[in-house]
Amino acid sequence: MANKSIITVQDLRKTYGDLKAVDGVSFEVYENEIFGILGPNGAGKTTTLEMIEGLKQIDEGIVEIDGINVAQKPEAVKKIVGIQLQSSAYFEYLNITELLDLFGTFYKRKIDAKDLIDKVNLEGKEKSYVKQLSGGQQQRMSIASSLVNDPKVLFLDEPTTGLDPQARRSLWDLIEEIRNTDKKTIVLTTHYMDEAEQLCDRVAIMDDGKIITIDTPANLIKNLLSKGFKPRKRKFEATLEDVFLDLTGKKLRD
Ligand code: ATP
Repeated sequence: MANKSIITVQDLRKTYGDLKAVDGVSFEVYENEIFGILGPNGAGKTTTLEMIEGLKQIDEGIVEIDGINVAQKPEAVKKIVGIQLQSSAYFEYLNITELLDLFGTFYKRKIDAKDLIDKVNLEGKEKSYVKQLSGGQQQRMSIASSLVNDPKVLFLDEPTTGLDPQARRSLWDLIEEIRNTDKKTIVLTTHYMDEAEQLCDRVAIMDDGKIITIDTPANLIKNLLSKGFKPRKRKFEATLEDVFLDLTGKKLRD
């Protein structure tokens, strides 16, 4: 992968009273990579993402997406980014096709609702309301809604939280397809380390408002092992998740 950067973040800061929620964060995201932001609860991941997305005011620091300064030109940035919305924020009286059509009207550049529905495997649900969808389907709908303007960069905040193993895997496939086929750049947060290991080209690990390391999952694991770390011995060669998937199959249920 050619390392051309599409997001640059320089010395980003946000304070709430005495709390330094984001305390001098700098990093780059390369074009067409899947970049993960990891860290314990309260580390500052969402605050960092929301400042980058232009949803939260930046106290100090500079963010540029595709060469556009987010604080100076928020409207220009909105055209090229897609942000996964929480499904609870959706209008209750529109079905998913109508919702995607409505979101499309906010943009000059837009993708057809039916194409988006097919892309996220919600065929047959065109007339459904969000509340009639399962958790996995709602997550896929929220990804569809973030793609309406055919964005260059997609932001996903904990995209698979609360999903069953089949639905998580199906979302991983979708995220990989959006990167590989549609050539988008994806920035995501997750608390699932297996997910970050599987999906992310590079991860940043945050704690107390700071980034403590950025690297590929492989390098981070190698570094740990080179320090003499001994992995905990597993009780068995397979996991309970392997059993679950063996018994219930890999096919999506919803
Ligand atoms: P999680 O993994 O739980 O989602 P996070 O890493 O995304 O956590 P943030 O939501 O960015 O963490 O919060 C970072 C810190 O900033 C936390 O201590 C949080 O309580 C605080 N914080 C976030 N938003 C506000 C706000 N609007 N007012 C005051 N404090 C806030």
